[in-house]
Amino acid sequence: MRRRIKWVALMILCLAFLITGCFDSSNVKTRGDNDKINVYASFYTMYDFAKKIGGDRINLTNIMPAGTEPHHWEPSPKDILEIGKADVFVYNGAGMEPWVEKVLGSINNKSLLVVETSKNIELISGSHYHDEDHDGEDEDKEGHSHEDTEYDPHVWLSPKNAKKQMEAIKDAFVKADPENSEYYEKNFKDNAEKLDILDKEFREELSKCSKKDIVVGHLAYGYLCEEYGLKQNAIEGLSAESEPTPARMAEIVKFIKKKDIKVIFSEKLLSQKVPNAIASETGAKVEFLNPLGGLSQEEIDAGKEYFSVMRENLEALKKALE
Ligand SMILES: [Zn+2]
Repeated sequence: MRRRIKWVALMILCLAFLITGCFDSSNVKTRGDNDKINVYASFYTMYDFAKKIGGDRINLTNIMPAGTEPHHWEPSPKDILEIGKADVFVYNGAGMEPWVEKVLGSINNKSLLVVETSKNIELISGSHYHDEDHDGEDEDKEGHSHEDTEYDPHVWLSPKNAKKQMEAIKDAFVKADPENSEYYEKNFKDNAEKLDILDKEFREELSKCSKKDIVVGHLAYGYLCEEYGLKQNAIEGLSAESEPTPARMAEIVKFIKKKDIKVIFSEKLLSQKVPNAIASETGAKVEFLNPLGGLSQEEIDAGKEYFSVMRENLEALKKALE
């Protein structure tokens, strides 16, 4: 009998040790609502892609506020702390988020799964587009560096690339949360099918257009143009950096007249001053193309997302290229 009491006491002691050992351990994952994985996305499109794959099985945060022009945004110390608590961090890469490397280097979270969604995509060189239709004017002004634009980062504007990005996100979610792998796989499959349909629509509709040249707000459409045989000429560079020089303005005006371009595409998140000035000088109309870098809260509340915005873009392109 005494022996048995001893045995029970030992058991309790062991158990207590195990339990406190467990609770003391700083390695225990503190997860949010209902044990869902915590996912942080670097800007709107990454958020939207993660939402399409993760649905209601993840706690998802876009660290960039709605309506922000993404190229010049940087996270605050509070944002960085938040990313440090995540299970999965989704970003585009290819120079879209020049702050990522520094931030990830400062985070001490060994279990954080980092997804660079452009990793398996063949990147277009950034400098290629600076040379095009562009004779000699140096765009590198004081305080502006092309360091972060070695490649054109806007991969997501080609549906084929978007599929690769969603696949990378799906793979990460399956790894971080294998219990829900079937759910993530199904969402990826559904969205991949939708992207194939979107790609087909762009290809068929744009092949019917006689014109191929577009004038855009900033050089966001390299992948889209390459995929569907269009050519972009931009008012601003790859990272929506600055107002164009008078020489660049004159060049664009000349180009619009020469190519008989009827529409100048601006962006809601850029200043309308320059597009309006060019429009009044050439008689072209200002319309909008959305590079999906950041939707406004108003647009998000209206239910806009990747597919609906891309179809709006297709309609705008068709009208401009008739
Ligand atoms: Zn951009």
